[in-house]
Amino acid sequence: MPQIPSLPGRGLPIQVHDSTTGELVVAAEGDTATMYVCGITPYDATHIGHAATYVGFDLLNRAWRDAGHTVTHASNVTDVDDPLLERATATGVDWWDLAVEQTALLAEDMTALGVVPPDVYRGAVEAIPDVVQAVEALIEDGFAYRVPVEPGAGGDAPELGDVYADLSADARFGAVSRLSRDDMVRLFGERGGDPERDGKKDPLDPLLWRRERVGEPSWDGASLGTGRPGWHIECAVIARDGLGLPFDIQGGGADLLFPHHEMSTSHDRLLDHGFGARNHVHAGLVAYQGEKMSKSRGNLVFVSALRATGVDPMAIRLALLAHHYRSEWEWTDADLPAGVERLERWRSAVSGNGGPDADATLAAVREALANDLDAPTAL
Ligand code: ZN
Repeated sequence: MPQIPSLPGRGLPIQVHDSTTGELVVAAEGDTATMYVCGITPYDATHIGHAATYVGFDLLNRAWRDAGHTVTHASNVTDVDDPLLERATATGVDWWDLAVEQTALLAEDMTALGVVPPDVYRGAVEAIPDVVQAVEALIEDGFAYRVPVEPGAGGDAPELGDVYADLSADARFGAVSRLSRDDMVRLFGERGGDPERDGKKDPLDPLLWRRERVGEPSWDGASLGTGRPGWHIECAVIARDGLGLPFDIQGGGADLLFPHHEMSTSHDRLLDHGFGARNHVHAGLVAYQGEKMSKSRGNLVFVSALRATGVDPMAIRLALLAHHYRSEWEWTDADLPAGVERLERWRSAVSGNGGPDADATLAAVREALANDLDAPTAL
């Protein structure tokens, strides 16, 4: 936990951009502020894109505190999922060792960058008993159904099948992203969904519980049978249990808007017979060498690699904050030297005796941050 200085006076109400309406909203109106920020799948921590997202939401956390809110921040780590298992198999390491190692590296990088740790932090594996109960409740209510599995799958009870959410049960499905049906089907296929899976009622219906498969880890699923949780229900349950429903903001990288946030909000609505996240806030994706930084392309810049060169992590933080959290930008060789130079200039300035009155500067910084966390202007 970093030390957070308290400043004289109080910050302004913080407006952020809601991805659903495209408008600025004061997401937290009471004394409290609640946010859920989606964590990583721990097989490739922590590239500059992750860091930009988490530093962006850390800025929101700190701006909320300065404005007088009591903040509760929940997050997860998706420590069992297809990409993690695939990476472990491809590199010949134990999937759990990989998950533990990369989760620890993320925590180390976030600590170095001064990110306030989440108040509620749970792994997918840790949350399995709660996910199982939630999926059982969805089946009971008629909001989920079983899909037969292929021969050889499903362990001792193959007849139980995988479980999928029935999106037709949620009249407000689609209200988060407001995408066309064609766009939803395309993105679902591109981002981990299985629109081609036989036996589903709707190609978009998302997986809630995947039955045991040969060579994959599985856990006791009570009446669901042995298996492991789907990704969207994992976040829906951890957010519900950690923050209560509804909560103020669900956040993450821009590529999580659909399907992940659409689906997890839908799950929370059905679980609660009410609401999920009130607002959705997304950080822009960071490019490198002309393309979006991504694990699949391999064009990653790692925070740990930058730290290993001896650079002050606060210079990395300043390099990130020089870009607005919502903008799409490209990391170049100029970013880090600019952060280093700014940090040196600031440290030199505050090391002197006296100086001008800070009230006007503080007011201007607060005004910039209240306006959709305009860090570049604040800097
Ligand atoms: Zn999530």
